[in-house]
Amino acid sequence: MHLLDLLAARAEPAAAALLTVTRRCPLACAHCSTASSMESEQIDAAVLKRFVATFTVADRPEYVLLTGGEPLLRPGLVREIAERVREVGARTHLLSGMFFAAGGRTPAPVRRAIDAVDHFAASIDAFHERQVPRAAVLRVLRQLLDEGKDLSVQLTGLTPDDPYLRRATEDIRRELDDRVPILVTVVRPAGRARPWLPPVGAGAAVHPTVPAPCALAAWPVVCFDGTVAACCNQDVVDAAALGRLPAHLRLGHIAHDGWVAIRERLLERELLRGIRAFGPRHLASLAGAGCDGYCAACVTALGEPGTATRAGAVLERPGVRAVERQLGALVRAGGAEMFLRRYGTEGYRELAALGHEAGAS
Ligand code: SF4
Repeated sequence: MHLLDLLAARAEPAAAALLTVTRRCPLACAHCSTASSMESEQIDAAVLKRFVATFTVADRPEYVLLTGGEPLLRPGLVREIAERVREVGARTHLLSGMFFAAGGRTPAPVRRAIDAVDHFAASIDAFHERQVPRAAVLRVLRQLLDEGKDLSVQLTGLTPDDPYLRRATEDIRRELDDRVPILVTVVRPAGRARPWLPPVGAGAAVHPTVPAPCALAAWPVVCFDGTVAACCNQDVVDAAALGRLPAHLRLGHIAHDGWVAIRERLLERELLRGIRAFGPRHLASLAGAGCDGYCAACVTALGEPGTATRAGAVLERPGVRAVERQLGALVRAGGAEMFLRRYGTEGYRELAALGHEAGAS
């Protein structure tokens, strides 16, 4: 399973589910978006396994992404989830900070968990490297690569022109023979980065009269406390922990909702369909509400019950429904290329295709 397979499905509603296996992490990176520590909370394993048990061959996400915190702090749970997911015909992807690589050996339970998932992704950045040297991470990745494991690297810099990105990509490409895809991202002002990172600029302003679909309102996220949110925006995940999620972004809770209910709400909820097709600013403006930020329009403007009701009424109009379907289909058809153009990092997008054989899925 190549990274491009995942990215190609990124705008496909319910094609994947993200499970936060734990918020805990033994590393202490200054940019950690989840502000994780070893004292952080983690969900009861039985509750998580019960939710995964509601996936069936007939009704399941195609991909299950295991994240944290550091999911490999619970290697037995990761392995059990991966085995169950495979039983129903789906595939798993796990993102790790690779704390274990610093010691020069991979503990047996961690190795079994890595073997159990279909795709293993390593998180590399300057903050990780102060605790786990890049060379140690690349040694483990090289061994996994030689054994035939599907891998990728998620490389994070401070800005798109951070010299660290250029040096690190050259090193990774050389050490792994250009066979491992690299997804380059930049630090966002969330978690421990919020107090010191300057706010992100407005970027290329899209006027609210122009639709700007949100491809991220497509994959449910099981948050640290079991609440299921409609997107992975860290502010949304944080709001879920505080019980402050706007109604349209709260899909349920895994203590009492199974996959079928979560999938149906994600697919059928009117505002989410509108956000996926028109984007939150355009939808809010159709409902007569103004808002400067993109996600702020989703959380604040559409979170206001009066605006949400008016937006719902607009989406009910027959002509609007037809346009919504066409825009949704266009975004999905754009696949990995459209996703990278929109969310990838300038100058590094093509690295996501490394190791992808021409003609592969
Ligand atoms: S627009 Fe809404 S659904 Fe999309 S990423 Fe922002 S908060 Fe999430």
